[in-house]
Amino acid sequence: MDGKTDYDVVVIGAGAAGLSAALVLARSLCRVLVVDTGEPRNRFSEHVHGFLGRDGSAPHTLLAEGRQEVLGYGVTIVEARATRVVGRINRFTVDLSIKQSVTARRIVSAAGMRDTLPNIAGLHSLWGTRVLHCPYCHGWELRGRRIAVIAWNRHVVPAALLLSRWSARLTVFEHDQVIGEGQRRLMHARGLTLIPGTLQRIMPTVVGGVTLDLGNGETHEFDAAFVTPVGIPNDSYLESLDCQRSGAGFVSTDDAGETTVAGIFAVGNVTDPLAQVIGATAQGARAAQAITESLAGEEVSVSKTSGD
Ligand SMILES: Cc1cc2nc3c(=O)[nH]c(=O)nc-3n(C[C@H](O)[C@H](O)[C@H](O)COP(=O)(O)OP(=O)(O)OC[C@H]3O[C@@H](n4cnc5c(N)ncnc54)[C@H](O)[C@@H]3O)c2cc1C
Repeated sequence: MDGKTDYDVVVIGAGAAGLSAALVLARSLCRVLVVDTGEPRNRFSEHVHGFLGRDGSAPHTLLAEGRQEVLGYGVTIVEARATRVVGRINRFTVDLSIKQSVTARRIVSAAGMRDTLPNIAGLHSLWGTRVLHCPYCHGWELRGRRIAVIAWNRHVVPAALLLSRWSARLTVFEHDQVIGEGQRRLMHARGLTLIPGTLQRIMPTVVGGVTLDLGNGETHEFDAAFVTPVGIPNDSYLESLDCQRSGAGFVSTDDAGETTVAGIFAVGNVTDPLAQVIGATAQGARAAQAITESLAGEEVSVSKTSGD
């Protein structure tokens, strides 16, 4: 092992992706530091669905158990924000918000993403409980129920058509999105109702649903509302490293999670906005294996050179 850096790997983010990477790395006898700001993307929700063996767990329970597992293998977890990563493979420096820097041979960027939502009064406070975005996460619970879909970007039409698998009682509020004739026809053919007008407010009902207020005296009640958020990766700490990014701004990686900057890996929502918890977990584990193999390869060649 290399004693020239503080850690073999610094993992930025202790969500499913980062903790999974840390677990596999620690079990591979790597010296691992995890830094985290404690705000996983799904913290607004009561349950995690679609995770085999853990379906219906509370998000914080799943992550708390993950933390205990990695701590058991000697991983260090620090509550701090990573603010900047500089350097190159085998000698990266990570600056932390707690006025400290640490060095590492590899970096796992696993800080997730944040969801940008439409600016409608009352909406943010209902996000994750009554205002939702993912049919795989929440569709089953809302099957056959009355659902409002709020249009505010071009993703709404495919999202509404997909959601119509779970419920035929769908109403699309056009809000501030222009919906073309062809798209209207598609939605009408699928039995969706469209309502024009800009939404002014969304409020909780006493029976666990939502009321949408168009501000013209018209209100509509539903069991839940769906939106299509825009994801922004939480990885400004990589800014000076010039990792290649997709058009949507997410860092690109190879199949093992390595970015175009050697030694920097990215896993979970920070690189893949569609990754669910189980997918983010798998990406973390896959990257950890690739890192372990690359560290082992370097260690073997150092031994050969030194004639050990
Ligand atoms: C409302 C909602 C409900 C969802 N429900 C489900 C569901 O039922 N099933 C499912 O599979 N998926 C669900 N998801 C998706 C799920 O949230 C993501 O798949 C998952 O969070 C991705 O894990 P991650 O580790 O990539 O990121 P995250 O879980 O977001 O973890 C990233 C971590 O990095 C930390 N961090 C951020 N910036 C920094 C920094 N600079 N320095 C240090 N730490 C930092 C954050 O605080 C956070 O702890 C839901 C999403 C939302 C929004």
